[in-house]
Amino acid sequence: MKQSVQGIHHITAIASDPQANVDFYHHLLGQRLVKTTINFDDPGTYHFYFGDALGTPGTILTFFPWRHMRRGQRGNGEIAATAYAIRPGSMPFWQARLAQHGVTVGAIQTRFGHSVLPFEDPDGMILELVTTAEPATVQVWQEGPIPAEHALLGFYAATAWVTEVGPTAELLTTHLGYEFVAQEGNRYRYKGASNDVGLYVDLVERPSTLRGQMGAGTVHHIAFRTVDDAEQKEYLTDLRRAGYHVSPVMDRQYFHSIYFRAPSGVLFEIATDAPGFLYDEPIAELGTNLKLPDWFEPRREQIEAALPPLNRKPVVTAKAAASHA
Ligand code: ZN
Repeated sequence: MKQSVQGIHHITAIASDPQANVDFYHHLLGQRLVKTTINFDDPGTYHFYFGDALGTPGTILTFFPWRHMRRGQRGNGEIAATAYAIRPGSMPFWQARLAQHGVTVGAIQTRFGHSVLPFEDPDGMILELVTTAEPATVQVWQEGPIPAEHALLGFYAATAWVTEVGPTAELLTTHLGYEFVAQEGNRYRYKGASNDVGLYVDLVERPSTLRGQMGAGTVHHIAFRTVDDAEQKEYLTDLRRAGYHVSPVMDRQYFHSIYFRAPSGVLFEIATDAPGFLYDEPIAELGTNLKLPDWFEPRREQIEAALPPLNRKPVVTAKAAASHA
């Protein structure tokens, strides 16, 4: 019998400028660029993976940065906000850091008793920092720009906007093992079956909101964790039996994936924890080499020539330098 889903594995979003994407997530938020590869379906485009020091499932935010991509439209049927956990004492640090770098930051809200700071990435994607007194354990990137005590501690939650909560709630609870834990207004919270990182999915019911449109600054899909290939196969069988159109298993090099659309329109993936990001790079070198799967290696020269140059070195602005003084 398969286990319940333990939480979020990764979230994949669309960006525009690759350099701005790396500058923001790697240098400003201190999420380690753990893998630099290409979009396997579009090898002229990078695929960046940002996470903790090892790219632990539940910390991984990935991007397809398509240059000249126009902005998407926020709306129903997509993940509208991605929340990272921080310790309660870190809120002033992050408010100051984001402000110093000119990031668009909203007012602090209270949600289910936790403080939530919303802000936007360079493409207008909504991120949130949520304070929690009992954060999950992640492998903080010690060489990164953020003091360890203030580091982002993996995903806290992902929020999907939906026209109707019921059908997607049924999918989460009946087929993925999520448990309904709380409601606040039109926000319904579901918890994965562990105390690990990336535990919550919130469904926000917005009956009169239009369907979102994909583009820069929108989430492409959310992936849930499964321990291994055998369990993934059980999900596949169970979901197909329930009438979902589930893709065949796809080799994503660092995990294996199946995809299907939730009733709300959100694209769901179930991804295996193994083999992970150490599969083709040692810890010290994670993210520093352009990694290609074997089937693209013969074309490496053309692929590298077509990709925009990338500066992985920290971009230290005068303001940022002053804040470290
Ligand atoms: Zn994915």
